Amino acid sequence: MYRLPRLPSAVKISCGSVLRRALIGSHRKLHLAPPWLLDDYIPRYHLISSVDASRKRSEAYAHLSKCNLCPRLCGVNRFEKTGVCLIGADVKVDTIAPHFGEEPCFQGHNGSGSVFFSGCNLRCVFCQNHTIAHQRHGFDLTPEKLAEWYMMLQDVGKVHNINLVTPEHVVPQVALSILHARDLGLRLPIIYNTSSFDSLESLKLLDGLVDIYLPDFKVWRDDTSRRLLKADNYAATAMESIKAMHAQVGDLCFTDDGIAKKGVLVRHLVMPGKADEGREIVRWIAENVSKDMMVNIMEQYFPRAHVGKARRGKSAKSEEVVEVVEPGGLRASPQTMAKVRYEDINRPVDLDEVALVRQAAEEAGLWRFVEAAKHGGFNI
Ligand code: SF4
Repeated sequence: MYRLPRLPSAVKISCGSVLRRALIGSHRKLHLAPPWLLDDYIPRYHLISSVDASRKRSEAYAHLSKCNLCPRLCGVNRFEKTGVCLIGADVKVDTIAPHFGEEPCFQGHNGSGSVFFSGCNLRCVFCQNHTIAHQRHGFDLTPEKLAEWYMMLQDVGKVHNINLVTPEHVVPQVALSILHARDLGLRLPIIYNTSSFDSLESLKLLDGLVDIYLPDFKVWRDDTSRRLLKADNYAATAMESIKAMHAQVGDLCFTDDGIAKKGVLVRHLVMPGKADEGREIVRWIAENVSKDMMVNIMEQYFPRAHVGKARRGKSAKSEEVVEVVEPGGLRASPQTMAKVRYEDINRPVDLDEVALVRQAAEEAGLWRFVEAAKHGGFNI
């Protein structure tokens, strides 16, 4: 594989824009990594002092005693009961494994060491993991046991990073696990893979522990978030969270093997009939966070959870079994759609809708996109 030449740090810092233009012109068509290159990388959790580590441990336990970790603000003592997320003081985990469904710069050749947490602080009606997120499937782990799993992923799985999937409701346990894993010898970057329905208190606790933030920005309008995510103020929360994440770690940076080590990558899953909201989201990123933000505009929506299910109660006219549309499958007929819940989003997204969001992103000045490899090979 061709690799970009190593350059002295001073050159990269002082001549970043010149270097970028030069590299875009000469190399980007070859699908090489963008030019935010790092000579080497030390995870942020190795750079915090022992005093700061102790303070973070104390703060983590305090958060669990009166939970304010997300905008639900349940205020419960999670050693005794659970809030909206359904998870107490231990984490519940569905799957821990090397994962090959992430962006190439995260999964690399060996996979992203993913930890899929059970429970969630959102209730998306189209959730594609709803058996994990809305039902309490999985096994309980203390933060110390979780840290031992990170070590297994590193030492046995040889993965490129630790990827914490849907962690918003278990931030204190995650903080404790990272600090414990640091003592055990973890050397991998930590990815915080979030819906963006975080609180600033959570993100403050994570500052110095997380290397890469991987936030979704799902919908723009408040009525959409109330109806489809069952959450108030989702967009306002996501905007505040993404700004705070970017202030901590900046734009996405890579080492010369093409693997991301530090920064923010924003995902937006284009929703059927909601391209206008996607356009607002990408414009906001460009105008308010960074035009150099790396963005993944995703087209793989397919309905799950409550979407496409038969209506309940008085509105249910029959017990007819209704087919949920699968990727590449048939759309429901108008007659069928009238009998199902959330019929307006019970279809795959059109590629035209995806193109509209992409066009708005480019017009706003964004240019670092996650794309499929045009050469048919491995694109990092
Ligand atoms: S993390 Fe869970 S318990 Fe804490 S405020 Fe959010 S939903 Fe409530």
